[in-house]
Amino acid sequence: MNQLGKSQNPLNQINLQQIKDNYDRIINDVEECKIKNNIDYDINIMAVTKTVAPEIINFSIDCGIKLLGENRVQEFLSKKDEYKNADVHFIGGLQTNKVKYIVNDVSLIQSVDSERLAVEIDKQAKKNNKIMDILVEINLGEEISKGGILTKDTHEFIEKICNLDNLRVKGLMAIPPINAKEEIYFKMKQLSIDILAKKYDNVSMDFLSIGMSGDYLTAIKNGSNLIRIGSLLFGARNK
Ligand SMILES: *Cc1c(COP(=O)(O)O)cnc(C)c1O
Repeated sequence: MNQLGKSQNPLNQINLQQIKDNYDRIINDVEECKIKNNIDYDINIMAVTKTVAPEIINFSIDCGIKLLGENRVQEFLSKKDEYKNADVHFIGGLQTNKVKYIVNDVSLIQSVDSERLAVEIDKQAKKNNKIMDILVEINLGEEISKGGILTKDTHEFIEKICNLDNLRVKGLMAIPPINAKEEIYFKMKQLSIDILAKKYDNVSMDFLSIGMSGDYLTAIKNGSNLIRIGSLLFGARNK
């Protein structure tokens, strides 16, 4: 069966209304959280599109979503031509040999966690006459099973990649452990402050990408300005 055949959401009015309601609820909760915590900057709400059919994704764009998050190269390539206008970030594990397939279709790669990958992104960006924005993925919970740079190694990593001509570090991304304590979230904000203080060339901390369906309010409270929402918007995934 192909990707689209396996999408969980048959297109019907009930599902679409549910997505609209979900989106409105998320917007509402984000606004409330901003007020409660005196946050005056914008929070970017990303729709994470894995397993979701293009018609449904387009409906979310009609509802107001401006940013999509893709984490599977093959699936993205099979769906992207059907998308309405939206900014797309790549957020999944990325093999170096796949960079060339996505470099022209995404505006930012959030999941950069090795020098090899950064060098390849720089090379492919150069070939395509573009500058590729990236986030450094941090392994905040220091979990062996997960990708990402350890907090203690982040400065060294940024020093190594910040002089690549066609790559710009725009912030940090993380997937915290399930049920992580709030301190873990704040560790990323603190890390971003420490990085800015070093004034590395070409490095800004415009985006702190942390928080998913289950923890986005905790993440925003602790400094996140980009939340990545899948199941809370589109419904539970069955794969
Ligand atoms: C799937 C995914 C999300 C969204 O997860 P939900 O819990 O469904 O909101 C966010 N970030 C990454 C990297 C993902 O792979």
